Amino acid sequence: MHEAFVQRLRGELACPVATAVPLAPLNTFGIGGPAGCLVTPGTVADVSTTLHLCCEARIPLYVLGAGSNIIVPDEGIAGVVLRLAGGLSEISMTGGLIRAAGGVLDRELAEFAWQHQVTGFEWVYDIPGTVGGAIYMNAGNNDGEVSQTVVAVTWVAPDGTIHESELSDLELGYRQSRFQGTPGIIVEALFQPLGSDDPDRIRRRMAAIQALRQSKFPPETLCAGSIFKRPPGHFAGRLIEAAGCGGMGVGGALVSPKHKGFIVNTGGATAADVLRLIAEVKARVLEDSGVQLTTEVVSFAPFLSFA
Ligand SMILES: Cc1cc2nc3c(=O)[nH]c(=O)nc-3n(C[C@H](O)[C@H](O)[C@H](O)COP(=O)(O)OP(=O)(O)OC[C@H]3O[C@@H](n4cnc5c(N)ncnc54)[C@H](O)[C@@H]3O)c2cc1C
Repeated sequence: MHEAFVQRLRGELACPVATAVPLAPLNTFGIGGPAGCLVTPGTVADVSTTLHLCCEARIPLYVLGAGSNIIVPDEGIAGVVLRLAGGLSEISMTGGLIRAAGGVLDRELAEFAWQHQVTGFEWVYDIPGTVGGAIYMNAGNNDGEVSQTVVAVTWVAPDGTIHESELSDLELGYRQSRFQGTPGIIVEALFQPLGSDDPDRIRRRMAAIQALRQSKFPPETLCAGSIFKRPPGHFAGRLIEAAGCGGMGVGGALVSPKHKGFIVNTGGATAADVLRLIAEVKARVLEDSGVQLTTEVVSFAPFLSFA
């Protein structure tokens, strides 16, 4: 990373700018090389300014939430990583709606809702991502989905302009949103709670959902949740088991023998190990069942790139 560019970022931003930052501790797989530069924006203006400066200097920019659904390349990121987790973190209640910044953790959103005695967020308590990442992925599980409560999203376009989109424009589908096709940095979301309830009952539901999930998860904690999307009419885990892939490994990456839909880092796994294992599982499942698996976890792709 050019020193002059870093100095420019530091001069124009009022937020932390660090160089040569290891990304492995900043994603739940615990893999990948360092970021040339890591910016942790404290305001939406920091986001717009970073975009503007990267565009001007033709430096690639990547957007990171809590890193719970990505595979960071082993060679790292030769560019700027804008990390919203630990940055944009305001959350408030206005007129019965929850307004949460893109870097608010899902767990914090659930706790905030519990404190305000409103429902619809119990299921996000155990999702290890951010509000921005949850909208980007339209996160969900058996107990709920982002699409049930989000009503509007504020996002920053690659040219630095700020936009607001309502639910009908978010194109939310199964682990899909408009932001996967049309780039936008999600800086804030407005949520409409489903109702209100006694805080003890809300707390008990959060705890019960978490306990059930944890009982199914692998004992290894370094992973990115479900690697594959649920194929229509099937369960990925069952197809993987039927294809004999449970316990299969490449390097330090292993298909969890306990939860076949998870790949875990048993220690020292590389991104290349994980990608090779994903390819092998897909090939075996296709051969065994004829079903083509697609990944839910995403390779860490640039938000802005300059070929
Ligand atoms: C143990 C475990 C359990 C999980 N369980 C579930 C589950 O039940 N349901 C589920 O849906 N997922 C689950 N996940 C996956 C993951 O937590 C979610 O997909 C989460 O929403 C990702 O959020 P994140 O902030 O970590 O995003 P990241 O992993 O940081 O990023 C994911 C993608 O979103 C983009 N992105 C992130 N933030 C923004 C933003 N503000 N603006 C624009 N783009 C952005 C990134 O560039 C990247 O492309 C699980 C993961 C783990 C490790």
